[in-house]
Amino acid sequence: MFERHPNDDRLSNANCIEGFAHCTSCFGQCPAGVTPREWARLEAGLTKRGMQIWCVRCEANLMHVDYEGQQHPVTTTRAKAGERVIDGGSH
Ligand SMILES: [Zn+2]
Repeated sequence: MFERHPNDDRLSNANCIEGFAHCTSCFGQCPAGVTPREWARLEAGLTKRGMQIWCVRCEANLMHVDYEGQQHPVTTTRAKAGERVIDGGSH
C-alpha cells in the first residue's frame, strides 16, 4: 500500500494511487461529461481502529481498514510550488 523512495525510507508524496475507491451506490449515477474524480464526494480519515473512506453523498462506508493495533509509516509532506514530489518510483 505504501511506496518508498528508492534511495531512502521516505514515503512518496506523489499521487501513487493505482486503484481508486468508488462508491458502488452512486458511481453509476455519474453524469455524462463529469469525471469520476469530479463526481466523487469522499472523506478519508483516521478512526480508533484504522482509516476509513466514506461516501458523503450516500452517507455510507466504502472502506474501513483495521490497522490491528499496528503503527505504519506515513508521510504528511507535500511538494511546494516548483518542488519535485518525493518520487516513490512506480506510480
Ligand atoms: Zn455514494
